[in-house]
Amino acid sequence: MSNTVIQVSDHEMKEIQAFYKQYQIDKAPPGSVFVAKYKGCTITAYRSGKVMFQGVGNENEAKKWGKPTSKKTSTRKTSGAPLPDNISSLSVIGSDEVGKGDYFGPMTVVATYVNKEQIPLLQELGVKDSKNLSDKEIIEIAKQLLTFLPYSLLKLNNEKYNQLQASGYTQGKMTAILHNRALNNVLKKIAPDTPDAILVDQFAEAGVYFNHLKGQRAIIREKVYFSTQAESIHLAVAAASILARYAFLNAMEQLSEQAGFPLPKGAGPKVDQAAAKLIQQQGMDALRKFTKFHFANTAKAKRLANR
Ligand code: MN
Repeated sequence: MSNTVIQVSDHEMKEIQAFYKQYQIDKAPPGSVFVAKYKGCTITAYRSGKVMFQGVGNENEAKKWGKPTSKKTSTRKTSGAPLPDNISSLSVIGSDEVGKGDYFGPMTVVATYVNKEQIPLLQELGVKDSKNLSDKEIIEIAKQLLTFLPYSLLKLNNEKYNQLQASGYTQGKMTAILHNRALNNVLKKIAPDTPDAILVDQFAEAGVYFNHLKGQRAIIREKVYFSTQAESIHLAVAAASILARYAFLNAMEQLSEQAGFPLPKGAGPKVDQAAAKLIQQQGMDALRKFTKFHFANTAKAKRLANR
């Protein structure tokens, strides 16, 4: 995804903020003044006076306010075989995972097959990178996708995750194994149909990925491609990211019920506080059921709980 950045004065910043006021969204990254979504374009204004425009029509939207300071094109990286030129319009199995950086909740991996004839329908349904969708939008779109897309959804719950981690599995290895398993499942589901390509949202270099899979049965290698930001390359990956996020949100809701209070996402200070509360209410061992225990949050929560 390309973006355009402009540098503005304090006065111009006020004008810009006033203009996008009614399109502002809640989440704002550190150092930002506001984030707004306007006609498919995401506008992020920073305290430094930089304003970044991302997504549809970013260049034109930025031009309303100033001259671009830098034209950053995609930072996308591919690993392994180069992607077919026309991959976006092919029939593709895409896979993606969610929950790796979240202290609470499982890791979810989804692979799904999107036949090239279904691409317009997916566009119509609003399928795009789940990072650019609200939770509400994700739930709505996911429910529709589940009715017609062949998919495999694998959820690695916290207890199992912690066991594997304790027995020496890295997060990368677990992720690779889950992706490979999900790909196998979808290939079986759609047989005798076969995809033109398989696109994995890249979390490791191709060589590292296949290294993680050593010793596994049925390693899918044929027509497998890796790219970062693969959600924006093919809608199959975008759909997989939406389904994975949906499963993650559902799991977080269930875990929150078991905890008796809402568990926050991510791995920040709020997470430490929630984990400390859990320790006080249910004891240290309970964390293994709710968290990725090896994260640094565990030690921080323990300190907070003992205060
Ligand atoms: Mn991803």
